[in-house]
Amino acid sequence: MAVREIIQVGHPVLRQPARALAPTELASAEIQQLIIDMRETMRAAPGVGLAAPQIAESLQLVVIEDPKAFHEGFSAEQLAARERTPVDFHVLVNPKLTLIGDEKVMHFEGCLSFASFSMVVSRHRKVRVDALDEHGQPVSRTAVGWYARILQHEVDHLHGTVCCDRMDPRTLTTPDNYANYYGGKTVAEAKAIIGKPGA
Ligand code: ZN
Repeated sequence: MAVREIIQVGHPVLRQPARALAPTELASAEIQQLIIDMRETMRAAPGVGLAAPQIAESLQLVVIEDPKAFHEGFSAEQLAARERTPVDFHVLVNPKLTLIGDEKVMHFEGCLSFASFSMVVSRHRKVRVDALDEHGQPVSRTAVGWYARILQHEVDHLHGTVCCDRMDPRTLTTPDNYANYYGGKTVAEAKAIIGKPGA
């Protein structure tokens, strides 16, 4: 078990399409150890998701976990606005994402590979993911709200996309400024504070 280094934006691996894993490869001790390392790295960060390219392994492998303990710093209103509910630890191998409907939602989000910043990203409210689990068994999950956001963010990493590619660039903020100016506010309120570019 090892906590691995999380690479930061600018590292070329974060821009490469990750390769799919063969089911036989998935059963190997090496990949099973990698999954354990990813789980420990995500928990140590801490984060709610980690894609293998974030530890410089260009493989289609994602771990996700959004435990209830992470929700303690948020009000019931904030959790409801994000449709954020606990998600148990799970592994997705070779995930295929299907966007469901046209409804999109904007929230501030962050990335362990774009540390020290948050930004508003528009994401689909609802998605479906089809993947293999860590045992090579097919899994299909439908997700709404924050879990759908996590899935879109992590699967993006497997295609060389980082959340800053999708952000509203004027909303980029450090964590301190997020807490000071936008933390308790809706995205619409935050955007009103930020305003539009001057003439
Ligand atoms: Zn990320």
